[in-house]
Amino acid sequence: MTWTAHILSLYPEMFPGPLGESLAGKGLQEGAWDLKVTDIRDYAVGKHRNVDDSPFGGGAGMVMRPDVLGPAVDGVIATAGEVDRVIYFSPRGRVMDQAFVRELAAEPGAILVCGRFEGIDQRVLEARNMEEVSLGDFVLSGGEIAALALLDAVVRLLPGVTGNRESLDEESFEGGLLEYPHFTRPPVWEGRTVPEVLLSGHHEKIREWRLRQSEELTKERRRDLWDRRKSNF
Ligand code: SAH
Repeated sequence: MTWTAHILSLYPEMFPGPLGESLAGKGLQEGAWDLKVTDIRDYAVGKHRNVDDSPFGGGAGMVMRPDVLGPAVDGVIATAGEVDRVIYFSPRGRVMDQAFVRELAAEPGAILVCGRFEGIDQRVLEARNMEEVSLGDFVLSGGEIAALALLDAVVRLLPGVTGNRESLDEESFEGGLLEYPHFTRPPVWEGRTVPEVLLSGHHEKIREWRLRQSEELTKERRRDLWDRRKSNF
């Protein structure tokens, strides 16, 4: 089965967007992953085809209606086969990390709900068992960019998408560390040289140097990752 993203959005033309380019785009064309986009507006209600309304209790902005989003999610679930995990992008959610990305890549796909306005009615969140996921501690104007970011991270892990599989294992966060610094030609640039050990051809020493660099960087920049790593070993 092909890993499939089922997107619900008021702006379906935002997909695949940047994921139509490069390795993700090639993978999409070649069927390494699939994308199905549903326009939430197809489920709009009433004479004015509304998808949102003002919040009970007052306050600024509009809220997406449960009698629009509920049927929209049901419509997608009905066609999504074994894909049943419904994710709603929200600044209140669990902040996505590489462990979450790996977890999702191991599933058959995901249903991704992109909010707009002030967000969605709480009842539809609960009734459709949506999992709230955040891109980070800041506020976007819609869930679409969070969906694109999550998909980019998932898709590159899928078989047939990333050319060099080995490069996936050494990256930042795999193994709980930030990645070591990279150097390429020329060996001297603006008077700056490349660390001697990298030119030595001594694979064991290079491996040790890189690990030490990763550890130093992580300790210095991301104490939270470093402390978590130590407690895991
Ligand atoms: N009133 C909300 C923000 C709404 S922003 C609040 O204060 O929590 C509009 C939409 O953008 C949301 O429904 C959500 O789908 C999306 N969004 C905003 N920030 C996000 C973030 N950090 N991560 C993921 N989605 C986000």
